[in-house]
Amino acid sequence: MSSALQAYLVLGDEKYLRAASNDFRMVQEQSYATGGWGPNEGFVEPGKGLLGVSLGSTHASFETPCGAYGHFKITRYLLRVTRDSRYGDSMERVLYNTIAGAKPVLADGTTFYYSDYNNDKSKKVYGNDKWPCCSGTFPQLTADYGISAYYPSPDGIFVNLFLPSRVEWWQNQTRCSLTQHTGYPAANTTELRFELARLERFTVYLRIPAWADEKTRISVNGKRVEKEIVAGRFFALQRSWKSGDRVEFEIGMPLRLEKVDEQNSNTVALMRGPLALIGVGNLPKVMSRAQMLMARPAGKNSEDWMVGTGGISFTARPFAAIGEEPYRLYHPLEG
Ligand SMILES: [Zn+2]
Repeated sequence: MSSALQAYLVLGDEKYLRAASNDFRMVQEQSYATGGWGPNEGFVEPGKGLLGVSLGSTHASFETPCGAYGHFKITRYLLRVTRDSRYGDSMERVLYNTIAGAKPVLADGTTFYYSDYNNDKSKKVYGNDKWPCCSGTFPQLTADYGISAYYPSPDGIFVNLFLPSRVEWWQNQTRCSLTQHTGYPAANTTELRFELARLERFTVYLRIPAWADEKTRISVNGKRVEKEIVAGRFFALQRSWKSGDRVEFEIGMPLRLEKVDEQNSNTVALMRGPLALIGVGNLPKVMSRAQMLMARPAGKNSEDWMVGTGGISFTARPFAAIGEEPYRLYHPLEG
């Protein structure tokens, strides 16, 4: 797919762009809630509920560092060419739910290989091989998320990932820099601070994730921007920028349930923004949709969530916060 995009960039023939974007849509249509895909390193036949079936048949759900690296590469190309923010949504989902939770490469080359989404006794384990493919793509990804965070454009800059970061660029003949302060995705806010050699007019494009709700707000220097914010698009913030300007971006981050596929619509993952909240500890056999959505933070300094009420409840946490404990990504719903 990435080769098709290279062919498009060199030859300009639309068929290569169509091939890559159609192919990527096929991958997304059979992705897990984490953004990972490819049980047993293969694709499933669409429309037959086979992703749901994989939850009971394999522990080799997603070849993580290589799959995440490939995912970053194709979404980076597609975003560069189309400026469609949904490729950025997909990229961050893989970043936070899979690669951020991969165990570190050990000194002898022992490497995290598969993310496990099996319904029964999922665990994070190392692969058997020393220095496999995934020991190389893991550090490559470290470079890739940096270069995928911002995209320059003749009329301004696209802010794709919400990371603590700093970017410097030339806008016309003006040296500009932008520093982002954020605790995203645990926090639902990010702050952008600008430094410019002189006043310069350009557009800052902010990615509004497709899942963002009506609580999403953008302010410049403390004053709310009164322009319609559309989820699933970049928001264009055009003005004459000066040193010291500050953008506050609050992203409405609702809880939602995502089914594994159409044929298994009562098998759902709990999501908050880009993060899958994964069940740990004692897990109820079955819950209602309303109980699943009754989730609240477990405490001020914890990444855990308490899901459910009364006797029917469990603890959920992001993949990155899971250590050796068993976990479950997908939960059965009543009915
Ligand atoms: Zn690999």
